[in-house]
Amino acid sequence: MSIQIFGLPVSRGVAIGRAVLVASSRVDVPHVFIDPTLIEEEVARLYAARDVVGAEFDALKRDLPADAPAELAALLDVHHMLLQDEALIGAAADWVRQRHYNAEWALSAQLEVLARQFDEMEDAYLRERKADLEQVVERLIRSLGRGAPLTLPETDRDSRDFGGDEPLVLVASDIAPADMLNFKRSVFKGFVTDVGGKTSHTAIVARSMDIPAVVGARQASSLIRSDDCIIIDGDAGLVIVDPSPIVLEEYRFRQRQSELERGRLARLRHTPAVTLDGERVELLSNIEMPEDADAVLEAGSVGVGLFRSEFLFMNRGGNLPDEEEQYDAYRRAVEAMKGLPVTIRTVDIGADKPLDAMSSSELRHESVLNPALGLRAIRWSLSEPSMFRRQLRALLRAAAHGPVKIMIPMLSSVREIKQTLDNVAHAKRQLAEAGKPFGEVELGAMIEVPAAALTLPVFLKHFDFVSLGTNDLIQYTLAIDRTDEAVAHLYDPWNPAVLQLLYSTISQARAAGKGVSVCGEMAGDPAFTELLLAMGLRTFSMHPTQVASIKQRVLRADTRRLAPLVPQVLGSEDPEATCLEQFAAATGATHLPRFAA
Ligand code: PEP
Ligand code: MG
Repeated sequence: MSIQIFGLPVSRGVAIGRAVLVASSRVDVPHVFIDPTLIEEEVARLYAARDVVGAEFDALKRDLPADAPAELAALLDVHHMLLQDEALIGAAADWVRQRHYNAEWALSAQLEVLARQFDEMEDAYLRERKADLEQVVERLIRSLGRGAPLTLPETDRDSRDFGGDEPLVLVASDIAPADMLNFKRSVFKGFVTDVGGKTSHTAIVARSMDIPAVVGARQASSLIRSDDCIIIDGDAGLVIVDPSPIVLEEYRFRQRQSELERGRLARLRHTPAVTLDGERVELLSNIEMPEDADAVLEAGSVGVGLFRSEFLFMNRGGNLPDEEEQYDAYRRAVEAMKGLPVTIRTVDIGADKPLDAMSSSELRHESVLNPALGLRAIRWSLSEPSMFRRQLRALLRAAAHGPVKIMIPMLSSVREIKQTLDNVAHAKRQLAEAGKPFGEVELGAMIEVPAAALTLPVFLKHFDFVSLGTNDLIQYTLAIDRTDEAVAHLYDPWNPAVLQLLYSTISQARAAGKGVSVCGEMAGDPAFTELLLAMGLRTFSMHPTQVASIKQRVLRADTRRLAPLVPQVLGSEDPEATCLEQFAAATGATHLPRFAA
C-alpha cells in the first residue's frame, strides 16, 4: 500500500528510485558497496563469522556453571538456532550477491527484514524473539570487525553496477555533514533523512549537489524498507513509498518538465547579470572543496563568495591538515578559478559541523548542551592560535597565485576583531621571516550574529567587506536551532527582525563604500531576489546550481521600481505577502516557492 511521509523540502526536483537504507537505527555498521570481483570473498566472510559466533555459543554453553538456570541454556539454543537459520545468513549472502553490500550492511539489511516479520507475529513469545535475533546479529557484526568508513558508489558507475536498473535513492536516519561530502561523488539520485532542518549543513550540501532531498521526514527510515520504490518530491517535502502507477506517471512527467526547464536556464550561463535598469549584479558561488571550482565556472559564476574551508578539516581522526596541505588545497581552488576572486572562510568547526563524523542528533546529546552557542567558528580558531595562524599562513601564501579574500565567521565583538587582526599580522610576519612569498588579501567579516549587525560600524572600520551569513543570522536572531526539525516551522527568513538586520547592514556597508554580500541560503532562494536587490544588495553567493535561477530573476528586475517598496515591506506584519503583492506588480514576476525553484 502506498504511503506518504512529510518532511522539509531542502533540495528541488523529483527523484524516483529504489531505496537504499543506511545507518540502521538498530545496529550501526559501515556501508560499503563492494567490488563485484570480491563478492564471493565477502560471502565467505559472512559464513566465517557465523562459524566463529557458533563456536562462541558452544563454548558459552559448555562453560555454563552447574547451577545456572535452565533458561540460560535454552536461550543459547535459541541463539544457535537463529544463527544457523538460512533466513539470516543465506539471505544476507543474497544481499551481498545481488546488491553488492558489504557483509555488515547485508546483515543489518536482513535484520530489518526479519525484525519486521517478528513485529507482525501474533504470538507474544515469538514476537519477543526479535531481541534475540538482534543480539545474534550484533555478535556477528562485532565478529566481522567494524570501522570501515562510509564509502558510497561513485558517479562514474551507475546503478546497474549495484545489481539493478533503477536509480538508487538513499534513506537514513541522519547523515553527518562530513559524510555528505561522499555523496558528491555517489550514484544516489536523491535522499531522505529522519532529522534535520532546512539550513542544516547536511541540507546545504544536498542543495549544492542539486539532487532532490527531504529532511526531517521523521519516521522515514523505519517506514521505508530496502528496495522499496520511492518518489522524493524535493519541492513539496514529500516522500511517497510504493506509489500507484498513476502517481508514478505524474511524477515522471514532472521530472521531464524540470529537466527541460534546467536546459532552458542553462542557456543564461554567459549572459551578464544586469537588471533592467542597468545595475550590474555579482553572482558568486559557495563551495566546500577545491574540486567544486569547476562547477562554479560551469554555472557562469564570477567567483567564489564562500569556500567553507572546514570541510578540509573533517573526518581525519583529529589530524588537522598542516600548512602545506592547506596551501595546496587553497592554491588549487585559486588556480581553478582562473583569475576570478576566491573568498575563503577560516574554519567554522562546531555546532552541526564536528571535526569527526557524528550525526547532528548525536551532537545534540553531546556533553555541550548548546553547541551552536559554544566554541564554534572564530571562537575555536582564537582558542587554538597556532592552528589559526597555520591556516592564515596557508591562505596568505595561496593569495600569491590569484585574488584571495579571507573571511572570518561568527565574529561578535571588537575584542574578537582585534585578536583576529593581530593573528593575521602575526601570520604575515612569520611568512616574511621564513622568506615565503605571500599575496595581498582583502579581509572580510561574516555578519551572522545579531550583535555584529547591531554594531556594524566597528566591523566596517576594521574590515574591507562584510558578508551576511543569513543561515546563522536567522538562527541567532530568532533563537531557533537551524538543525532541529522540531522547530523548523519557526525558522523564518521573512521575520521582520531578520529583514531589518539585513537592510541596515546592507545600507550601512554601502554608505561606507565597503563591499557587502549575502552568502547564506537566502542568496540562492529566488523568493528573496527582488527584496535583496531592493535593499541595495549587488553581490550574492550561492550554490552553483542556483545561479541560473537567480540570474533569471535579476534580468527581470528593475531596482528603481523595487527600492521604494522596502519601507512598506519592513513595516508590514506579513512581509512575505507584501513582497508578493508589491514586487510582482513591479516586475511582472511570479512567486516561486522557497528553496524550490
Ligand atoms: C550562514 O550562516 O549563512 C553561512 C553562510 O555559514 P554556514 O551556513 O556555513 O554556517
Ligand atoms: Mg554561518
